[in-house]
Amino acid sequence: MAEVLGSAAALLSRTSPDLPVVLIRPHVLRRRAQGVVAAFPGRVLYAVKCNDDERVLRALHEGGIRAFDVASIGEVRRIRALFGTDVEIAFMHPVKPAAAVAEAYHRHGVRRFALDHVSELEKIVAVTGGARDLELVVRLAVANDGALLALSGKFGAEPEEAVALLRRARPHVRRLGLTFHVGSQCLDPGAFARAIHLAGEVAAAAGGIEHLDVGGGFPARYVGDEPPFEAFVAVVREAVGHGIGAVDLACEPGRLLVADGVSVLVRVEQRRGRRLYLNDGIYGSLAELKWLGPRFPLARVRPEGIDRRAELGYDLFGPTCDSVDSMPGPHWLPADVAAGDWIEVGMAGAYTRTLATRFNGLGEARVVEVADEPWYLVDPAPPVTTEMAAA
Ligand SMILES: *Cc1c(COP(=O)(O)O)cnc(C)c1O
Repeated sequence: MAEVLGSAAALLSRTSPDLPVVLIRPHVLRRRAQGVVAAFPGRVLYAVKCNDDERVLRALHEGGIRAFDVASIGEVRRIRALFGTDVEIAFMHPVKPAAAVAEAYHRHGVRRFALDHVSELEKIVAVTGGARDLELVVRLAVANDGALLALSGKFGAEPEEAVALLRRARPHVRRLGLTFHVGSQCLDPGAFARAIHLAGEVAAAAGGIEHLDVGGGFPARYVGDEPPFEAFVAVVREAVGHGIGAVDLACEPGRLLVADGVSVLVRVEQRRGRRLYLNDGIYGSLAELKWLGPRFPLARVRPEGIDRRAELGYDLFGPTCDSVDSMPGPHWLPADVAAGDWIEVGMAGAYTRTLATRFNGLGEARVVEVADEPWYLVDPAPPVTTEMAAA
């Protein structure tokens, strides 16, 4: 059974941890899932790669997530083992080993697969024995310029290729669809409008589709200037209403669903002026502090409580010997931070533990559940009553 504590401060008043501590808040994850499922006019698939901790997955399931976007056969097995066959799995990686497609189709009942190249279509058709009940989803290349982390440049068919792929896939499918990814932490709702417009043109040229998956990329609110999910939903509704015909809609948020339900508690090992050397870094749970830049809410935690004074902008350094293991600031904290202090990094549920390595013999963390209302939320979702949750 997982340990459940009141808060980070309560943890520190009881023990002095010797590892970084990951704090999971299942109630926040449940609430976020309920809010996203209620707001989106279609199926919400959680992108498992973002955080695959069992407690996180269970909290999302309790919050109403019944479909999962997976990238590997390992994730297929994990989701089936946790939730059985009453959840939907979509295998959305465009380049899959043949054995993974075969196992997903024949043993785990997966019918929806993404592709962006004709060789993948041939592979899927071959290993499923010419199945005609597939749901094939062609991934379209789209601009990623509204996103902090671009995911273009690796996957996605150009419009003409996508039209050809849709036509070739048609005889094998029960449903045919298009998908795209506008890039992670996308701050521009218009990026979805432009991608949906392009999908509409491709669909029309290919004779129509039945399914549109608008991918992930919806921003978590680290600073507060990120548009809320509702702004993206409004744009998606409007764009779909104007020109793609009647389709089943889906989306695949990762970051949006899990960022605010998890924080990480790290210790300052040494201070040198404005430089803080921590016991965790980019090879552990904090890679995003480098790749997204200094926008994570930070606070000092002591057994007596939280100290949120933002007095001095620090540069942060991780514990490995690699000089890449740095998180340039300004990361705002109290002016008198000292060695031995604990810092809580809020909004740390997305792409944190799943990216941790064992480099330098480090990377381990203790994981606990906490029950508090986190201090760092920009937009706490409205509390959901138990009747609503049960419905
Ligand atoms: C990573 C990924 C997602 C989730 O992206 P977020 O930016 O975390 O929302 C969704 N779909 C696909 C295909 C992905 O690769």
